Amino acid sequence: MIELLILLFFFKSEESYFLSSLDTIIQKKHLVPEATELWAPIPSIVDPGDNFSDAPSDAIILFDGNNLNSWTHKDGGEPKWTISDGYFTVKPGTGSIISKQYFGSCQLHIEFMTPSEIISQGQGRGNSGVYFMEDPNQQGDSGYEIQVLDSYNNRTYSNGQAGSVYKQHIPLVNASKKPGDWQSYDIIFKAPVFNDNGSVESHAYVTVFHNGVLIQNNVQIQGYVKFIGYPEYKAHPKKLPIKLQDHGNLVSFRNIWIREL
Ligand code: MG
Repeated sequence: MIELLILLFFFKSEESYFLSSLDTIIQKKHLVPEATELWAPIPSIVDPGDNFSDAPSDAIILFDGNNLNSWTHKDGGEPKWTISDGYFTVKPGTGSIISKQYFGSCQLHIEFMTPSEIISQGQGRGNSGVYFMEDPNQQGDSGYEIQVLDSYNNRTYSNGQAGSVYKQHIPLVNASKKPGDWQSYDIIFKAPVFNDNGSVESHAYVTVFHNGVLIQNNVQIQGYVKFIGYPEYKAHPKKLPIKLQDHGNLVSFRNIWIREL
């Protein structure tokens, strides 16, 4: 009986292979090459800059090295974080900052540096975070976090190290540079879509390059970030701010730009 089923399976797969080969032969005979050419729309022209880290001409600059005009504290107040020579640094205890502009799906470039002076370990070392879709009207963290952490010779839970989707997805590799070195994230974030009744129509997805190395490959986000408990979705507006986290450590940021998708 099993032999018969196996034979039947092979016959069926041979048959579909035969049919698809036949289809290819027919297409080659009856179609011209132009039949599969698309000439519209024409992609708009973008100047990519000289380096991979340069803001392309269609990017929105969220920090150009000079001021925090594109940011507020989550409560709406002026950011108290420290601006130095072309970068800014978390001022511990003053709270996280959010972008004034709201975003949904996007491509984000951000550079960060964790403190060269090592004063703690695990989650206490160079901790911050890049959050997508942080709702300023919600108490506590409500966005989707890509973890910022000093993960250079610093063991912690794998889904909490640098480049993790915090407490959800372990990065594919650890591409961290040593503390005091500038590092980059290039993130492609696909916003979730909600039905009218608040249920999830399509999940959020994220792809992350850490210092140019792919560490998250289009992973499905399971819900907004939670320190305690399993992730879940809560319906929210189509666009919300980007958040940078004050986790009490002197993490610095520079060259932040974003492209809406
Ligand atoms: Mg964090």
